[in-house]
Amino acid sequence: MAPFPSSRRLRAVVMVRSGLCVWPGMRQLCLRKEFLFGFMRFLSTPYRTLRGASRALGVSQFLRSISSRSSSLQIELVPCLRDNYAYLLHDAHTGTVGVVDPSEAVPVIDALSRKNRNLTYILNTHHHYDHTGGNAELKSKYGAKVIGSAVDRDRIPGIDIALKDGDKWMFAGHEVFVFETPGHTRGHISFYFPGSGAIFTGDSLFSLSCGKLFEGTPEEMLSSLKKIVSLPDDTKVYCGHEYTLSNSKFAVSIEPENEELQSYATRVANLRSKGLPTIPTTLKIEKKCNPFLRTSSMEIRQSLNIPSSADDAQALGVIRQAKDNF
Ligand SMILES: [Zn+2]
Repeated sequence: MAPFPSSRRLRAVVMVRSGLCVWPGMRQLCLRKEFLFGFMRFLSTPYRTLRGASRALGVSQFLRSISSRSSSLQIELVPCLRDNYAYLLHDAHTGTVGVVDPSEAVPVIDALSRKNRNLTYILNTHHHYDHTGGNAELKSKYGAKVIGSAVDRDRIPGIDIALKDGDKWMFAGHEVFVFETPGHTRGHISFYFPGSGAIFTGDSLFSLSCGKLFEGTPEEMLSSLKKIVSLPDDTKVYCGHEYTLSNSKFAVSIEPENEELQSYATRVANLRSKGLPTIPTTLKIEKKCNPFLRTSSMEIRQSLNIPSSADDAQALGVIRQAKDNF
């Protein structure tokens, strides 16, 4: 997570449900207690499609415009460096393989070799070396295409396909939606696979924490986290680092009466004592336990002397500072 040196037609089924709007400013855009089924057609290329749709519909409706379906996508964790995870994505039908955030090439090559697989795509959540360090070697060895943020096209090594907020990209028939999630870096993005109920959040949302604010403000991080938690509660979260155990110690220190957190912290300690990953987590767990998603918690505010008049972004800033000094 540290900043190392360096015309296809799309049919979208729009389902709008009540009470699910997260952004207060978007609330008026949501319809109440009804399902609206509509077919929206967009002219698009394989690489950029729904940007206009996200603007036209508003984010809340846009998220709900994503149709979900069963998925043949397999996700494999590949531990890298000291505490990073790269993720191999394998489409069982076509054999297409991608990797998310390869901080180094060798563990990824080893994992591919074990199953005699090739590599077609490299997906980067942000430019930091511990998320892109394997790009050049993997691209050279396999001829893989590098996908990253258009905002950071100058900082993503070997980038071929630059995406922006609301873009849809197809991975072997699987819809992949790009959310810009700045705060940790300016060009940070997250990749959402609705068919698999999975999101790759890099260094934006961690289990029980969020990324350090190297290039962004608490307001930006709060907005990014709200985008992510707008997804269904059972969404699986694949983040960039295995930080959960140390994160749990901070979380418990500022919200010791949270029983869900206590229970999760115990589970995390058990998993780590056996050398097992705590990832993926789910949005359901994170909403109940992650202090950066719980800025309105009275217990957290009292622990950190955050005044009740402070808004959520101010509270997040204080929590982030306390975590940085923990
Ligand atoms: Zn980072």
